[in-house]
Amino acid sequence: MTITEIKHAAATIGMTPSRSLGQNFLFDQNLARWIVAQLDIQPGDHVVEIGPGFGSLTEFLVLAAQLRGDLANGVTVTLIEKDDRLIEHLRARFASATVEIVHGDAIEFDTRRLLGRGPLKIVGNLPYYVSTPIIGRFADPVLAPAKMVFTLQRELAERLNAKPRTKEFGAMTICLARRWIVQYLRTLPASVFYPAPKVESAVVLLEPRPRVETPPCDDALFDRLVRGGFSERRKQLRKNLERVEPGPDWPGHLRTLGLAETVRAEELDLAQWTQLTRSIDTSVAQHGEELFGIVDENDTVIGSLPRDEVHARDLRHRAIHVQIFNAAGEVFLQKRSIWKDRSPGKWDSSTAGHVDAGETYEQAARRELMEEIAIEIGTLTPICKLGCGPETGWEFLQIYRAEHEGPFRFAALEVEGGVFLPVPQVREWLARNPRDFTPIFRMAFPQVLAAFG
Ligand code: SAM
Repeated sequence: MTITEIKHAAATIGMTPSRSLGQNFLFDQNLARWIVAQLDIQPGDHVVEIGPGFGSLTEFLVLAAQLRGDLANGVTVTLIEKDDRLIEHLRARFASATVEIVHGDAIEFDTRRLLGRGPLKIVGNLPYYVSTPIIGRFADPVLAPAKMVFTLQRELAERLNAKPRTKEFGAMTICLARRWIVQYLRTLPASVFYPAPKVESAVVLLEPRPRVETPPCDDALFDRLVRGGFSERRKQLRKNLERVEPGPDWPGHLRTLGLAETVRAEELDLAQWTQLTRSIDTSVAQHGEELFGIVDENDTVIGSLPRDEVHARDLRHRAIHVQIFNAAGEVFLQKRSIWKDRSPGKWDSSTAGHVDAGETYEQAARRELMEEIAIEIGTLTPICKLGCGPETGWEFLQIYRAEHEGPFRFAALEVEGGVFLPVPQVREWLARNPRDFTPIFRMAFPQVLAAFG
């Protein structure tokens, strides 16, 4: 949109831009087109724009969606705008079968609605007063957007992209960097916005960090140590750590990493923060070799062998899946950790796992419920047993249904997170993007639904 068009649209609805809503409208059309191009929209994508305003980015977004989508695999769009004065304007201009307009606050937006709609891409010239919480809400490993392109206050963009040993490098830089690669794409002068803000802006691109780049550790522990470590920047790191996490031999752990005891938080890079966390993270301690029960073609136990051998030799063994429903009839889906060796990052039953040597199916189910999502369940209802063959990875699979309302606590290295979703949403998602789910879930879910109508 040109500046004349924006002013005209504002005059038509009798509004003046609100400073408290961070309203600075972009009127440089080349820049708007360029920002949208950074999303690299592909057929099947679902694109979310946060704070569309009068539609400066949206017009290019909708155009790109129409051009890139095809009949079988369209691109869909969600616009989230808080200012009620703009909603009618947006509806009149953009609402269609493929463009949904949500009137609401992006910080309170229920992101579960975005699951299952295709690879997710997020864009926004963000209102500066809430950029940080908005990034926090959408840069979520469970939601896992493939790309996020944000225009931010330049100072914030520099912090997100900062290098160690600079004053911009802080807890937020590191905590975001663990899951996301942040690129500073370009600086925007204040003069491309109406009204012009007092500061410069910058466009950043966030993409998921490949899991091979950071070894696993407990995310919550990592965040606690980093935030605690930076809490008093002038202090030595070990002193800050001794306060937030008393107990470990911090000077010793720092020495093991080749760091001086006097080191400060901003001197450690992402790899060193990860190593430091892992040095006290009991969840990554090497457990003894896992032993599975192995069975014959009638599911009778005939011995036990280590996990790797069972998988390498395609020996028949046993596993369980539990699907949990709440009182509203929603099913709880688990997103597997990206660090799992099988089906990393895929959506799965509420809990799933192998039957260890000497365990029954039910004992294994109860153990996995406790280990993965930290709950005890009264009644486990057996639904069916899936046969054993190449399609199940040579597992006999006992499927259970259970009732629980949550909340759940996730084992960091096993589970990325999870959500209760309405059954129709899961059905649609399965039909549209079956490969978002594990092969076993694709087989088990219809059986559970059939058993309970
Ligand atoms: N995208 C438009 C553009 O580039 O011209 C507008 C950008 S303007 C910087 C920020 C927009 O976010 C405004 O339309 C404002 O009303 C909207 N907004 C402010 N706070 C919001 C919130 N919490 N949730 C959703 N939108 C919000």
